[in-house]
Amino acid sequence: MDWTKTNISATIDFNAQGRQIGDLRVPWSGNEQPLGYLPVPVAVLKNGTGPTLLLAGGTHGDEYEGPALLLHTLHSFDPVHLRGRIIMFPALNAPAVAARSRCSPLDDGNLNRAFPGDGSGGPTRMIAQFIEDVVLPECDAAIDFHSGGNACVFASLAMVYLGAVTADEKSLALAEAFNAPYTWAAEFAEQGTFNAAAIRKDVPMIATELGGGGNVNPHMVQLASDGLLRVMHYLGMLDGSVDVPEPGNRTVDIDVNMNGKIYSDRQGLFLPAASPGQPAKAGETAGTLYSVPEPERDPSIVCFLEDGIVLSVVNRGIVSRGELLVMTGKTTATACDD
Ligand SMILES: [Zn+2]
Repeated sequence: MDWTKTNISATIDFNAQGRQIGDLRVPWSGNEQPLGYLPVPVAVLKNGTGPTLLLAGGTHGDEYEGPALLLHTLHSFDPVHLRGRIIMFPALNAPAVAARSRCSPLDDGNLNRAFPGDGSGGPTRMIAQFIEDVVLPECDAAIDFHSGGNACVFASLAMVYLGAVTADEKSLALAEAFNAPYTWAAEFAEQGTFNAAAIRKDVPMIATELGGGGNVNPHMVQLASDGLLRVMHYLGMLDGSVDVPEPGNRTVDIDVNMNGKIYSDRQGLFLPAASPGQPAKAGETAGTLYSVPEPERDPSIVCFLEDGIVLSVVNRGIVSRGELLVMTGKTTATACDD
């Protein structure tokens, strides 16, 4: 790793064999620790030679399924069964995770909009630049585990963003190996995202959406744990003694366009009519918006704009104008494993 490209240092050796657990030291002189450093937890599991897989959770600080999965894996997976290296950040935007907040309280930074980052910027942009310029060039594959956070609840979804020079095929293969119930291959990644950084560095990558709602959904964590083992198996990173979970028997490829995003046109109390994973039908009720301060006002019925699958539902109760209420995806292919 080229540490000359960053002001961040680490308390562990990324090339040592076995299990290393420590801190990234992000230089930051704030009120709480003016002469200390900002710790970002990092772990490296390494055994022999093989691919390097980057795993991130807590890119958004209010999404807990990813951090739960990574901490569980860190303490339960014996690196003796590994062929290669896992670089793991269970709480990548650590100040945001500590604050149970999507964005960092130190600089209001949304890490998944902060790439390519800035080595002399605030902590969020420093972390982004470190990942893009120092970590990603060392990696053969990457997974960034997101969920709905406080704002919404998602169906279990793997996302691939296309546009890399050579990595697209392998990104699709990662998603297939992960085998989430829903897979979305998007043509475009916003430039500030982790996925866009992987595209710039030509590293195969998937992201996930796994539940959310400010909670830890154990079903989603198990699903992601199974998917992670299948990805490691696909990459040739497991010895023969690890049981690799069988893929699920139903996966659906979906696509999301503007008709799949239903935004609120007013402030109100939103009563959803469907849950993530349920079918959506154009013209049918997606939910009802009620006015709390003007209860005599007629409620507003919000309808699905197209046929598909409900991918996410807002988790706010009271919503404001412009808020994403429901997201649906159009089914493009269904694969069944016999
Ligand atoms: Zn997220």
